[in-house]
Amino acid sequence: MSSFTAPKGTYDLIPPDSAAFTAVRDALAAPLRGAGYGYVETPGFEHVELFSRGVGESTDIVTKEMYTLTTKGGTRLALRPEGTASVLRAALQANLHRVGNLPVKLWYSGTYYRYERPQAGRYRHFSQVGAEAIGAEDPALDAELIILAAEAHRSLGLTGVTLLLNSLGDAECRPAYRAALQAFLRGLDLDEDTRARIEINPLRVLDDKRESVRRQLTGAPMMRDHLCESCKAYHEGVRDLLREAGVPFTDDDRLVRGLDYYTRTTFEFVHGGLGSQSAVGGGGRYDGLSEMIGGPRLPSVGWALGVDRTVLALRAEGVALDLPSATDVFAVPLGEDARRALFTLVTELRRAGVRADFAYGGRGLKAAMKAANRSGARYAVVAGDRDLGEGVVQVKDLASGEQAPVALTGAVGELRQRLG
Ligand code: ATP
Ligand code: MG
Repeated sequence: MSSFTAPKGTYDLIPPDSAAFTAVRDALAAPLRGAGYGYVETPGFEHVELFSRGVGESTDIVTKEMYTLTTKGGTRLALRPEGTASVLRAALQANLHRVGNLPVKLWYSGTYYRYERPQAGRYRHFSQVGAEAIGAEDPALDAELIILAAEAHRSLGLTGVTLLLNSLGDAECRPAYRAALQAFLRGLDLDEDTRARIEINPLRVLDDKRESVRRQLTGAPMMRDHLCESCKAYHEGVRDLLREAGVPFTDDDRLVRGLDYYTRTTFEFVHGGLGSQSAVGGGGRYDGLSEMIGGPRLPSVGWALGVDRTVLALRAEGVALDLPSATDVFAVPLGEDARRALFTLVTELRRAGVRADFAYGGRGLKAAMKAANRSGARYAVVAGDRDLGEGVVQVKDLASGEQAPVALTGAVGELRQRLG
């Protein structure tokens, strides 16, 4: 072992587990790629203010969880704690909302950084696949994103994911609700931090997980009873489309993203097998965010799915992904001439689309065959001077142990055919 270990709250992705991880990441993104979303990639760090404004001054992410640094030139940067603010910034910077059709539909995949208390499913460095649909207000767009996430979960074979759904109202109906909620909360017996939160971000108090707080929240005014007609109709529109698509959901009045620019549709995907880190993804509509970061009014909706927790959810359900082995053919040369001939064969196999590997390091036959078996390959190609003299290589089926000579010149075609 080296004298270093990975920093607290991080883990390394290494084979063989990394294969499941990348398969999950691909599966979460696949439905988006088939629905008109274009790939976007932004820097791993941004100006601190983008997040303090774009995520919110009063959120845990900004107040407690952000990794910040000052460059030698005095610029204050933060490692990205989430994707939405950066993606919207990039879209505005490139004028995507002016040059293309609205909505601008983007997807991304990357690692994010939050200074959190590490525990199972909660890391300081983690991965998300995300999607944002920028510049349109249409219940079908909210429904589309939710359906695509549900489709990703289904394609992975997950059955224990529940979709929680709520509406947070809009600039018309939320202020009155917020005031009613504040009046209610001010009458409760709460600690100082929570009292402060009532004034800055009262909706977040509804989300408090502590029993002592939850008990007092019975009877709190609920957004549902304060939605204006257009918000009600919008939310019904989303719910109808989900029902029509056969995507089950649970209405959850307590589900909030208590920032002023989060509006209307809000949702979370939770999984029962993950203990308290139950959210495998979440999202919603953020009609005011663009203006918050200096852009024009661009009502938008998006989600982010956690790759790490989705892998844990699969494990919790005992779902094994059907992963292709990394190697189909493993070449084992015996002697210097065979080394050259088989190395060339491996290159040709790869060019023909066959996954192939080679016994490097000039070890003996026994060690090389062990490596072939470990590689997961279906066939070993073994050749010594005598085989080459006869113009053949030995193709061995590693499962059955059967072995037969094949002409070297026809080996690529033969192996391709056998592998289907
Ligand atoms: P939580 O309530 O669990 O802290 P969150 O609301 O902070 O989640 P989001 O910002 O909505 O999470 O991020 C979307 C998804 O990213 C989450 O549903 C989760 O799957 C994943 N995620 C968020 N934070 C972490 C983390 N520290 N480690 C691993 N995955 C995370
Ligand atoms: Mg969090």
